Amino acid sequence: MPAAALTPEADYRPLCLRCLRAGSVCLCSTIEPFGTFFDVVLLQHPKERKNSIGTARFTHLSLRNSRLVAGAEFDGHPEVEALLADPTKYAVVLFPGESAVNVSESRDAFLASIPGDSSGPKRLVIFVIDGTWSQARGMLRKSARLAALPRISFTLDRPSQYKVRKQPREFCLSTVEAVARLVKLLDPAAPSDRLLATFARMVDAQLECAIRGKEKQKHARTEAEVSA
Ligand SMILES: [Zn+2]
Repeated sequence: MPAAALTPEADYRPLCLRCLRAGSVCLCSTIEPFGTFFDVVLLQHPKERKNSIGTARFTHLSLRNSRLVAGAEFDGHPEVEALLADPTKYAVVLFPGESAVNVSESRDAFLASIPGDSSGPKRLVIFVIDGTWSQARGMLRKSARLAALPRISFTLDRPSQYKVRKQPREFCLSTVEAVARLVKLLDPAAPSDRLLATFARMVDAQLECAIRGKEKQKHARTEAEVSA
């Protein structure tokens, strides 16, 4: 490789292979994994995977009972199909709509409605879509098996704190905020605030980066003006 093709040392930011963020904004030291009585499957749109300020990856690292599955279509997806075929599990999708059970209002009735046998209810599995609204709608449209699952939703308790990424409408939440809310409602004994603490750390780090970037640009402009 010619020397000129190498990344200049000043711009070299090693990537953390666990949280997949640049070393300077790595979140691993703030992640304290915890468990919940239900499982979460984060379905990540391929475009979200490349988003450096995405929240699904660290949500997955924070939740012991979670999986992160990438894709845009899930009919025939081996991991998703295996979960749907498992007779010990009861799967639902977190997605608003007329048929969705609002767990802010009907938590106990929802949990009581989970089918089971004499040994108890089936294990609840919640699919959470990680993508923009239009990506999420498209993913469900192309995944008939997921679209046919019972749906749950909740009522927002606060606007999104995703200050580094404009939410299209004020009732939209980032994936981590949605999962934190879900955990708080369904499993109040679990430390859902840990998710929000890591999220706040991510937002602060990104805002600091943006400010530093602007200062660098300003400095470069001033130097250019001085030397002109
Ligand atoms: Zn990391």
